[in-house]
Formats: sequence, structure tokens, C-alpha cells
Amino acid sequence: MKFDISDKKFSEFYSSIKPNIKELIKKSTRNKCYYCGKVCSSFQNSHSIPRFILGNLNSNNLYGNIFSLSNIEFMKGHTGINQAGSFYLLCEHCEKELFKYYEDKTVIENFNENDQKLLKSIALKNYLFQIYKAILNLSLIASGYKKCKKNDIPESLINGFRFNIGVNLSNLDTYEKVIQYDKHYFNKDIYKTISFIKLNYTVPIAMQTSFSIYKSINGVSLFYENTQVFEPYNLFIFPLKDSSIIALFGYKYSKNTDLLLEEFRLLSDSETLKLINYITFAFCEEYYVNESIVGSLRKTPQLKKLCLSMRKLDLSKYNSTNIPNILTE
Ligand SMILES: [Zn+2]
Repeated sequence: MKFDISDKKFSEFYSSIKPNIKELIKKSTRNKCYYCGKVCSSFQNSHSIPRFILGNLNSNNLYGNIFSLSNIEFMKGHTGINQAGSFYLLCEHCEKELFKYYEDKTVIENFNENDQKLLKSIALKNYLFQIYKAILNLSLIASGYKKCKKNDIPESLINGFRFNIGVNLSNLDTYEKVIQYDKHYFNKDIYKTISFIKLNYTVPIAMQTSFSIYKSINGVSLFYENTQVFEPYNLFIFPLKDSSIIALFGYKYSKNTDLLLEEFRLLSDSETLKLINYITFAFCEEYYVNESIVGSLRKTPQLKKLCLSMRKLDLSKYNSTNIPNILTE
């Protein structure tokens, strides 16, 4: 059976395997805070993007997401401010202490690209969110396989789903390892900014996420041979009141980070924006756009195609697609 995520039959199937998120997290974490390991009775509603940044989108607290742009009927096509990038893995103490600094408006507005405390907080949020997503997706897949068996539905339906949402155990494994690494080097400089742009206007999108890069701008492979572990990079696009900041950063003592840094240095600002716009739509899922531009973006078939085709992120392809660049004024 050929898998099609926009198929109506799949929508019914997906609804029937959707887990109870709160129960699932309790089970997966055994009622312990994911960061400090202490038992906690209720998990905090953490957000991957600070609330005040989403507020700068001036979108009446309702945002377009990957599903509204790709027009997948059965997934929720809009996100409210309380649901945007939310996850439940931390106790109250960790949620308050770990992100106090980065949720401070003045720290973000005066962003310093070498501010390790800030870069570490942003990265940690991204890694925790990826872990949360992997737990949910793995659970969806597990209950999906069970349902297939019980109802004699071909397992190929799930195989396709598994591929399309980019789920694999190595993701979970890598993010667990990098959280431990960052904890270990808590007082050391471990991140380096590859690209940083400040714009004098407010972009209509907010995002922050972590991902792996398969090939560099010049087509150099950044994957380590014979290993399932990948090197995560972090990207954020933060709209501010009358300006915006965008940064891509990676681990400081990495030859891949140095290679990317050299390649990004040769790009003009407009080329960098084009590339960041491509990375966002080709590879990321955690972005929120101003509701008023969803209609026009949905009319772009190339964008829908790109949003739906999860693949290894090859930066050398950024010039080959013709999608609207929402980062330009
Ligand atoms: Zn904790």
C-alpha cells in the first residue's frame, strides 16, 4: 500500500492511535523530572519559544504551523499561544531555574552571539523538545503497530508514517547524550555562533529548533561514518518589537562547525536569509507564522511539497527550490 499522509483513511487511523499525552509522559519518565531526576507530581507546561517572542508576531495568539502550510486536513492547522512548542518533561524548580535568564526580554533584545549562558539555554530547550517529540512519536508508532496487528491493517501504513515524521531511536539517543554533555560542561564555553543576523524589521515567523546537517553549502558530507550519532545544530528566528534576530550555532570544538562558519562567511546577508528560510521549511517542524500570511503561503505548491518531504538536510540544495522567502522585508 502506498502511504499518503493526506489520505483520509490515514486520518481516521491516526485519530484512533493518538495517545493520552499526560499519561504517556508519566509512564515514560516514571514520574521523574527529565532534567534533575527528582520525583514530581505534575510536569510543567514548558514552551520551546518564549511567550513574549510569539506575542511579537501580532497574530492574536493564534499561529499558522507546518500543518496549515502543508494543508494536512487531519492535523490541527493552527496553534494557540499555550500550545505553541509546549512540552511536559520538567519539574517546577527546573522549569523556573533553567530558563529564567533566556526568558528575560532584555537578554534577548541585547543578544550577544557569544553569550554561552543564553546559547546553552536555547539549546537545552531544543533538545528537551526533540526528546518529548520522539517519546510521543515512538508511542504513536508502537500503538499503531498493535492496532495494525489486531485489525489486520498492513504494517506498511506505519512504516511510511515512521519515515515521514523522521522518527528514529538514534534521535532520542543523541539528544540524551548531548544534554549530559552540556550538563558536564556547564561552566565552559561549548557553543559557537555560525551565523548571526539582526534585521531592522519584524519577521512574520518565530522558530527555534535543533537538527542535524547532512551536507554543507558546498556539498561536503557532515555525517560521521559508521555511527548513528549526529551532531546537533541549533537555529532560532526571533521576531522582536521593531526588529528580528536570527542565529545558527553549533558545538565550538567541532571541525564541522568551523567548516560551516567559513561557508556562511562567504554568503551575503540576502543569501543567508534565503538559506535560513530554506532550512526552516525543508527540515524544521517547530515554527509559527503570522496567521495573516497562511492563505498566501498555502497557494504556493512548491512550499507544500517542501514542507511534506522530510529528508536529510542538504544545504547545497537551497538554491534549487523556488519558495517565498518570508524573512525578507
Ligand atoms: Zn527538575
